[in-house]
Amino acid sequence: MNTIDEPIFKIRGLSKQFGEGCPRCSDKQNRNLDKNYCPACRTVYSCQDISFDLHPGEVLGIVGESGSGKSTLMKCLYFDQEVTTGSAFLHVYKNGTCNLFEQSSQQKRQIRNELMGKVYQNPIFGLRMNFSSIGNIAEKMIAAGTRNVSMMEARGSELLTQVHIPVYRMKEEPQHFSGGMQQRVQIAKALSNKPPILLLDEVTTGLDLSVQASVLDLIKHLQRELGISILLVSHDLGVIRMLSDRTLVMLDGQIIEQGLTDQILEDPQHAYTQQLVQSLL
Ligand SMILES: [Zn+2]
Repeated sequence: MNTIDEPIFKIRGLSKQFGEGCPRCSDKQNRNLDKNYCPACRTVYSCQDISFDLHPGEVLGIVGESGSGKSTLMKCLYFDQEVTTGSAFLHVYKNGTCNLFEQSSQQKRQIRNELMGKVYQNPIFGLRMNFSSIGNIAEKMIAAGTRNVSMMEARGSELLTQVHIPVYRMKEEPQHFSGGMQQRVQIAKALSNKPPILLLDEVTTGLDLSVQASVLDLIKHLQRELGISILLVSHDLGVIRMLSDRTLVMLDGQIIEQGLTDQILEDPQHAYTQQLVQSLL
């Protein structure tokens, strides 16, 4: 980790709400919510004024319970969902001067295909289950403009080897793979265009513990080898502890605590974080 460098990815004031709001909840300073929800108008404030930096080669963990807004945040960053307000700047895109959320849908597709990779908890969202594994990888490369078939095959084999899937299985469809292997194919696909940023959303949730450990180990290894920056979302502080240099804690759509992961584990400040840390012991 090198925090002296300029951030690679800057998020400022990102908010996402579902609903129009009403007099009771529209004042940002004094919203009067029940968790992240306005009982008067039923608006849900999933992400409220989220700001953070991601540095080159850093693994930043975001931990929070279901409903904390962490997955909505990831969806917004990958343009799976539109933000309500806020900005995001990527230093490799137009020198970090343009708010990604204000780009055209064509530009957003380009950013998504060339500059980011995402791995979903549910592989159905990240893979075409009835395409071959190498076909899934090729799809992302084609989306980024690659046309050379032998090059795609070579890159695809290289990636499958990197994620420990035997090359002789490259023509097999992910639907016939185990959960752990499906996540490995997703990781290979996400890395296909050598993006500077990888978004990982609960990638090991639901896997057996031993499989979970081997996927996390793979991610750790790849991160060191490639020096890629990772944003890692999990409800499981154990997962965050294993991979993250720095951690943000989210509760009810807000960041309630942040710091070096070791520091948060040793000396959690917020009552919710203390409870999370307790549950690890
Ligand atoms: Zn309201």
